[in-house]
Amino acid sequence: MSDSAVSLLAQEWRNSILLYNEAVRAMVKQIALENKHVLASFFYEQMLQDQAAQLFLSHEAVQSRLMLSMQNWISQLFSVDGQADFIALIELQRKVGEVHARIDLPVHLVLRGARTLKRKFADLLDAHAEEALEKRKEAFRLVSDSLDIAMETMSRAYASSYDRKSRAEESYRLFSAVHNAAAEKGKQRSALLDWENQLMFDLAVGTQVDNLLSIKKSDFGLWFLHKGLHAFENLPESKIIMDSIDRIESMTPQLEKNEERVSLLKQIHAEARNIQLNVDILFDKYNELEAGRDELTRLLSRKYLSVVLSKEVAYARKRGITFALLAIDIDFFKNINDTYGHEAGDMVLQQFSELLSNRSRAGDYVFRLGGEEFLILLVDVNKDAALRVAQQVSQKIRDEKFFIPNGEVLNLTASLGVTLFDGHPDYSKSLRRVDKALYQAKESGRDQVVYIEG
Ligand code: GH3
Ligand code: MG
Ligand code: MG
Repeated sequence: MSDSAVSLLAQEWRNSILLYNEAVRAMVKQIALENKHVLASFFYEQMLQDQAAQLFLSHEAVQSRLMLSMQNWISQLFSVDGQADFIALIELQRKVGEVHARIDLPVHLVLRGARTLKRKFADLLDAHAEEALEKRKEAFRLVSDSLDIAMETMSRAYASSYDRKSRAEESYRLFSAVHNAAAEKGKQRSALLDWENQLMFDLAVGTQVDNLLSIKKSDFGLWFLHKGLHAFENLPESKIIMDSIDRIESMTPQLEKNEERVSLLKQIHAEARNIQLNVDILFDKYNELEAGRDELTRLLSRKYLSVVLSKEVAYARKRGITFALLAIDIDFFKNINDTYGHEAGDMVLQQFSELLSNRSRAGDYVFRLGGEEFLILLVDVNKDAALRVAQQVSQKIRDEKFFIPNGEVLNLTASLGVTLFDGHPDYSKSLRRVDKALYQAKESGRDQVVYIEG
């Protein structure tokens, strides 16, 4: 959400609040504050009746915290007056929306919760029969406006975070499906050309139309149907290529008729050029994604952290297993740059990254989060296994001889933080924990492993 969108919503919120007189606002505020517990419990009970919602509320940390944060949210939302900090209020709704996107909480469940609250609030207002009907009606309008604007903000934030997440997911999938784009591109270029040459040659020497090599069975066709299509699924160019392939397939049998042959071959040639063009576009798009890999170390960059974490959180929760996070930061790395130069620092970082990759299993993920800070996600491990790996990595770093351009050999140490994913659907909590563990390892003298329980 852009700054201008935030300030526009804040302005609208303020305008809508000013529509109500002070007595009405005071009434809403008082009822909300007196009944925040009732409202939050009612919301919670209603949500629990929904099967889809149960999945998100089942975790005990969510249960205990949700009740509290719901009550805070209710107090804030209904205590707003003209002097309120509307920007801060909008930011708060935005943050809630982003958390929802991060944990994949469907937007309809949130809207359903809001509807529930509205209904409960209407009952509470009805109970104040001593107040004039007109005043109660106004109060309900205020309640409704406040909830609506909060929901609108949350949904906007949700949608933009969700889009960002889907795009990153898409690029991650491509990224993991194609390994050497440059080589593949050249290979497929010539495979398509080979097929076309073969077709011309076969026709020239009088091969029966039935015996011509179908494009779908050519090396190019096989690659595209089995690999390319999967790797580039959802990209419009894939459909364009597929359509061209189908048109070529339908034209081939007609090559039998001599009088149409030249015009058909021209059309086939045009279709093949169209395929070529779009395959090039696909690979160019892929190359842009290569930027997701860290240039110096070839490790995963921070860009893919959220994609991988959401994927692994969903996987672990579904199977009731856990994973571990290891945060690793080289000790006194700045000294290497200062003493031996940046180039030496770079060389050490490369060797260090290789060491981390070698210590992790095929299913694990190694990220360079920035500078001399790394993160390893160990899939499907318990506490003992995670600590064992962390100690091994720490020892290995201590034992390793790091080479620098001037031929000298350096020794290094690193500080490591370790934590286990605790089942909470919001992975940012696990990330904060592992950061804290790393910080403690630094504070307690570096060159050590600190574990913080999930
Ligand atoms: P600590 O033990 O507290 O972690 O100390 P430190 O010196 O490792 O940490 P600090 O954060 O003070 O310094 C990190 C240094 O890493 C500073 C920066 O110049 C260097 N650095 C960051 N990225 C790169 C890089 O890509 N190449 C090189 N050569 N140095 C880098
Ligand atoms: Mg450091
Ligand atoms: Mg650092």
